[in-house]
Amino acid sequence: MASQRQVAEAPNIWAVAQQQFDEAAEKLDLDDGLRRVLRVPKRELTVNFPVTMDDGHVEVFTGYRVQHNLARGPAKGGIRYHQDVTLDEVRALAMWMTWKCACVNIPYGGGKGGVIVDPKKLTLRELEGLTRRFTTEISPLIGPDRDIPAPDVNTNAQTMAWIMDTFSMHNGYTISGVVTGKPIAIGGSLGRNEATARGTVFTLLQASEVLGVPIRGARVAIQGFGNAGSIAATLLAQEGATVVAVSDSSGGIVNPKGLDPSKVNAWKREHGTVVGFPRSETISNADVLEADCDVLVPAALENQITTHNASRVRARIVAEAANGPTTPEADEILNERGVFMIPDILCNAGGVTVSYFEWVQDMQSFFWTEERINESLKGIMDRAFGSVYEMSQRHEVAMRTAAYMVAVNRVAEATTLRGLYP
Ligand code: GLU
Repeated sequence: MASQRQVAEAPNIWAVAQQQFDEAAEKLDLDDGLRRVLRVPKRELTVNFPVTMDDGHVEVFTGYRVQHNLARGPAKGGIRYHQDVTLDEVRALAMWMTWKCACVNIPYGGGKGGVIVDPKKLTLRELEGLTRRFTTEISPLIGPDRDIPAPDVNTNAQTMAWIMDTFSMHNGYTISGVVTGKPIAIGGSLGRNEATARGTVFTLLQASEVLGVPIRGARVAIQGFGNAGSIAATLLAQEGATVVAVSDSSGGIVNPKGLDPSKVNAWKREHGTVVGFPRSETISNADVLEADCDVLVPAALENQITTHNASRVRARIVAEAANGPTTPEADEILNERGVFMIPDILCNAGGVTVSYFEWVQDMQSFFWTEERINESLKGIMDRAFGSVYEMSQRHEVAMRTAAYMVAVNRVAEATTLRGLYP
């Protein structure tokens, strides 16, 4: 019984990704052969590699790099460091990257990487050693024209700098286009750090327009206070929204009168968590999903909105800044309840879109202004939202199904046009 409950709470994420694809393939009446090609990853690499820890002993870590599909261009997708990483999770995330890049129509396939590690338990030097050796182990796969990693959960610009340097050392010259999300000083792009959150806000502004629910004055709850969540809080407050609840892996805080994102950020920097923030009530990380609000932004990990809490979500709009935060069963409950879902492959595509701009700038060694980047990002996000919304209206399907239909259609077309080799 206990294990059954666990299965219900946390379905296998790879099975979920395949199920979502199958549904879209059915709606698009996709050819059987094409379905067989697109529902599995093209390449998977598992690496076990040693790292010398600060006290001199050797640890062996396990990591993965998966390339789901390369029909529309090189593989693109982040690398995450987390104690719960599994090959199935990386497969799902790689597949979602294929659909995400196709959904916003940027010329990439999908990939993802992960290392099983709790990075909070490692020193900076150990993290550098782990990153450099992992880069070496996956170097047969990566490269600016074949597979381009980026930050994801628990990795950042510094991680990307180490990857870029290691890859460049192997080749004897600087190859900045091998990763995106780098520091500005070594070929990173202005606006990349804020891009996932900014893209989320652009999709929310579009949703607010079609629904007639203004963002100005809306009450927002945000689960996760990392790169996506913390910056989304700041940008939404700038748009006139009231951030009423936020959380991180240690817990959540709520104040119906509003939390000042810049002060919460400062508190988190000092105390390592949002918990304990003055004039806020402490709640759990899961409670944030049920907070009294108009807009809910899950910006943490997968499988957060499940059958157990979906009926208690009070928001009118859910903007998925995280990858895979809603299980398919929960999705159905929310759809039935009339909650407007902005699906992950659309909602959080701002990150990879500015990664694309970074890669283009690196290849051309010509760097754009932040204004040009943010305007171009808005253009791509607004167009993508428009195509998905139009698809959902035309076929009378939910936004997630529509996003999959737009994306899978593009990948299927590319695959069909290229034909099968040999
Ligand atoms: N990790 C981010 C995502 O899931 C960004 C990927 C990228 O920029 O390549 O979309």
